[in-house]
Amino acid sequence: MGGAAGGPCLPRHNRQNRVCLGLGTGFGEPPGGTHLSHMRTSINALLAASALAGAIWALPGQARSYTLLGGTLDLGQRDYRFFNNFNDPSANSNTVPDPDFPGAIGAELAVWKGAAEWNSVLHGNGGTDPEHPDGIGSGASNFESFYAGLATEVGGVNDNTASMLSGFSAIHAFLEYPIGDGWRIRFYEGPDSWQDQPDPANWSGPFPWDIQGTMAHEYGHALGLDHTTVPGATMGVPLDLGVGLRSIEDDDRAGLQFLYGALSPNKPVIESYTLNGSQVTLQGRNFHPTNNEIWLTQRIAGGDGTPIQVFGQPSQLGGTQITFQFPASAKAGEVSVRLPGIANEDLSAPFPMDPLAEPTYNLPRAYGTSKTTSSGTVPSIQVTGVPSIQQGHFVLDLVGGPTFGNGIVLSAEARNQQPFFGGTLWIGGPIKRELVFNHQFGFARLQVPIPTGAIPGESRFYQLWFADAGDPNGVGLSHGVWVTYAE
Ligand SMILES: [Zn+2]
Repeated sequence: MGGAAGGPCLPRHNRQNRVCLGLGTGFGEPPGGTHLSHMRTSINALLAASALAGAIWALPGQARSYTLLGGTLDLGQRDYRFFNNFNDPSANSNTVPDPDFPGAIGAELAVWKGAAEWNSVLHGNGGTDPEHPDGIGSGASNFESFYAGLATEVGGVNDNTASMLSGFSAIHAFLEYPIGDGWRIRFYEGPDSWQDQPDPANWSGPFPWDIQGTMAHEYGHALGLDHTTVPGATMGVPLDLGVGLRSIEDDDRAGLQFLYGALSPNKPVIESYTLNGSQVTLQGRNFHPTNNEIWLTQRIAGGDGTPIQVFGQPSQLGGTQITFQFPASAKAGEVSVRLPGIANEDLSAPFPMDPLAEPTYNLPRAYGTSKTTSSGTVPSIQVTGVPSIQQGHFVLDLVGGPTFGNGIVLSAEARNQQPFFGGTLWIGGPIKRELVFNHQFGFARLQVPIPTGAIPGESRFYQLWFADAGDPNGVGLSHGVWVTYAE
């Protein structure tokens, strides 16, 4: 049994089930340890998890891997809220907004970033985090969280709310479960000084400990993972004041994908949005033709935990665009699109949403599909580096074009989807011929000029046209690339 090390993880009240983030190695014990044995009394689903874990751990000398808590979160349990009752000065000291997490600072921003790491793709451009340079949003599964806004109270054990719990404990935080009907996360008040600053160089107070990393760990429990002993994993043992937990690792991702499935190509995807007064136009793909549900972060703290929802929205342009009125009850936060259905892939990753500002810079994004060439290759184009206005051009790489010949880089101000010479024209409005090029063996590296007078945040859409003598129409076509210029 776990003895003293496991003792702090025991629940104080038998009616509650908890998994803890402890000090040192107070958790992560194999089945039979204190930590897991107290859970065994509580949920049937854990028996299966324990059996699985036991099978893995029976192999001597192998790295232990993720284990399951029992249960998953369905689409009705993806929203969560935060009650900001943290009282350490260091817990609400960060006043620098992050454009990828609009409308939040302090502990709220740290909690939001912690949970968002489990989402399938980068949150906007992935946020600004000196300890997390590969960006926030690394799950590559069909799981998405949704930040619904601030709560006004701790709430019940099934209210999907994170908050601080008064008192001192040898554990940092814990999750109350089973999760299937909701969960609750508590951060112990002390002895830690809770820290919201992204850069630990700015931390202060005795026994500093990271809010963001702790939320990433506890939210991993909320979505159904138990502890692992893989070094460095978010569901593993914290070694560096919690900061290392911010970024999920391969073992965490494997557990996430086991529970929710690897990222589906059919999933709805929000790529950006534009504003016209209170009218929002989302751009993306795989939207439902007639019946999309929009989720938004609530403006006023409180509510019942359900995100602000706009129902029954149609899409345009072949499922790549949705226009809706931004409701007065919503605020800056995030936006998701839910399709009719209950599959994990029916909810988009949340996209940062500020009703007063369009995204200022996005990574170039491919969209649409290429026409297969007469030699059977599928052309693919990709922007390399940042499309910098100061530089005056950006680099576009082609692979998989027709074997030899000439091509043209085309650009336009809008997206499109229209049958065209046996393929699809992905750009719309007046079309500009940027440059003519020659490609050999299907490869080319192209320097595409950025228009004079372009401003940061402005976008254009690009597509390649090839001569393809073996094609019935004599034409090859790439997919589209959406390029937003940076300074
Ligand atoms: Zn834990």
